[in-house]
Amino acid sequence: MTRECTPHPLRTIASFHAHIYYDQATRTEAERLRNWIAERFTVTLGRWHDAPVGPHAQAMYQVAFAVEIFPALVPWLMLNHSGLSILVHPNTTHPLADHTDHALWIGKALDIRGDKLPQESEAELPREPNTTPTLRP
Ligand code: ZN
Repeated sequence: MTRECTPHPLRTIASFHAHIYYDQATRTEAERLRNWIAERFTVTLGRWHDAPVGPHAQAMYQVAFAVEIFPALVPWLMLNHSGLSILVHPNTTHPLADHTDHALWIGKALDIRGDKLPQESEAELPREPNTTPTLRP
């Protein structure tokens, strides 16, 4: 074990992602959830990936969000994920750990292709939001 003996401080989290997975049978639910999110949260919605990409073994789209959004968005996703699998992960300087050891799943956990992820990289800072919410969560 080469794991360090001090805990990771919260400030190492630059931002978060939620990856919302779907397949042909659940794409309608994924579309509905995407619209619900856009109506309620200030986030950056990524494009649809109908085929597996990077470490993600199933079709998905990404929701990128700032640390301050987490306390409202993640519990809301717990209540409203409609049976879809969602990977919520922090963005630190350790992408592999962020998608595995540091991640949480809402719904059924899916495989992550760890071989597609670097151990270390620059942390991803929050992106420019592309939603303008009109409803309260
Ligand atoms: Zn991600």
